[in-house]
Amino acid sequence: MDDHVYLSRSHVIQMAKITSLLLPGQNAIHRHDITARVFRQKLKSLISFITKSHVFGPTRCWMYSVEWQKRGLPHAHILVWFIDKIRPEEIDSIISAEIQIYPLTNCCLILLQQNMIHGPCGTLNSSSPCMADGKCTKNFPNRFTNDTVTNVDGYPIYRRRNPENGGQSFIKNIINTDIDIDNRWVGAIFASAEQDI
Ligand SMILES: [Zn+2]
Repeated sequence: MDDHVYLSRSHVIQMAKITSLLLPGQNAIHRHDITARVFRQKLKSLISFITKSHVFGPTRCWMYSVEWQKRGLPHAHILVWFIDKIRPEEIDSIISAEIQIYPLTNCCLILLQQNMIHGPCGTLNSSSPCMADGKCTKNFPNRFTNDTVTNVDGYPIYRRRNPENGGQSFIKNIINTDIDIDNRWVGAIFASAEQDI
């Protein structure tokens, strides 16, 4: 494993810090002044969390770029180099690609379900925008694996446990159909995402 991590921070427009400042009839895309300021605060807090609180260990340096998604919502791509290399057995404590029912609060769980779950697509939802020529362009669903595996084409295969092996799942309603969502549909997330940073 290398000595750096790459992570993205997206803006969640349902944040109370944004919605509480909107006027009647407005939503976040109408108020770039508010979303930009809240995003800036959250980004600084996240960088500080990593580089000053050293949640992953001492950092050597870091950089980021901010991009704007459709309708102007910002997100940041952040690259952090650490002084010590991340050992393979430490990956699961930094990056999670699994549904975490606990110890998240209900609020955080809902946010993760809304923002870190892909699709579903494929045979469960063939009209999903990620579909092209009958296949998911993002290569979902991932396969189940009980352990994180490194050095496969340079990219780790993150642990995504089957419900029979301790993985969590929840029900999501897609086009009036209840679908059981398991770890195959989770995007890799910052393992400390439950903290309000
Ligand atoms: Zn897909």
